Amino acid sequence: MKGGAGYAGGARRVAMATAVVVALLVLGVALDQGLLGRAGSATRGWVSGVRAGAPSSAAPTGAGASPVSPAPSPTTTAPALDVPAAPRIVADHLTFGAPRKAETAAYAARHYGTRTSRLRPTMIVLHYSESDTYSSVRSLFEADLPNRGEEPGTCAHFVVDQDGTIHELVPPTLVCRHTVGLNHVAIGIEFVQSSRGHDPRWATQQVLARRAQAAAGVALVEHLQRRFAISDDKVIGHAMANQANEFRDLEGWRNDHVDWQAPEVGAFRRLLTQAP
Ligand SMILES: [Zn+2]
Repeated sequence: MKGGAGYAGGARRVAMATAVVVALLVLGVALDQGLLGRAGSATRGWVSGVRAGAPSSAAPTGAGASPVSPAPSPTTTAPALDVPAAPRIVADHLTFGAPRKAETAAYAARHYGTRTSRLRPTMIVLHYSESDTYSSVRSLFEADLPNRGEEPGTCAHFVVDQDGTIHELVPPTLVCRHTVGLNHVAIGIEFVQSSRGHDPRWATQQVLARRAQAAAGVALVEHLQRRFAISDDKVIGHAMANQANEFRDLEGWRNDHVDWQAPEVGAFRRLLTQAP
């Protein structure tokens, strides 16, 4: 019968539609829990480290809300990431010959009591560039202009562009002037990002929410942690530098920078895994 056959066909369509919905829900859970990683990379997200029931704040970007995902972070958001096991680092070194090394050694003597440009890193300090392009960041660091009336110019060892490209501007075995009080012990990493008049925490939340850039930053930090045996708690933000145990400045200088505050550094650390 037409009516009966139609009813039976409708029932089958309902059953199939239900199966599709269930399959999509399972897929959504798998994605939220980072279960679908690519070969040779690790997929991970901060969501596993979130405190249940904590108050939430407005998220700067949609992080893939799902009815079955855990509660959002109380402080900031970051997406699940595909983090390569070994980051691709593009060497684009600044001019750092004998003159700049001599300026650096003299700076180290004045501020740390150690006249050397050699670095044995025990910490990593995260920054954002307050600019929109890698080329502008590089030009600033290449210029080697005095800062606070002293040479050498400021710099960072690495700059992570918004598309995930990692540039090495200075080898991490050379002192580079990026953080008052910690240049004698710390590698500096800049993320290309402007605050655009927003709160500085907003800027770092943009970095965390930008998958390619965040994944590259995590892969780079993990690579440096393995190379120099640096623990997660020694990965800090510029805004945290004055409170670091290693902070030292013989001329009484202090940082007045606000980039990478503790909540966002905490979110970044939760993306790190212990090196294999
Ligand atoms: Zn900074």
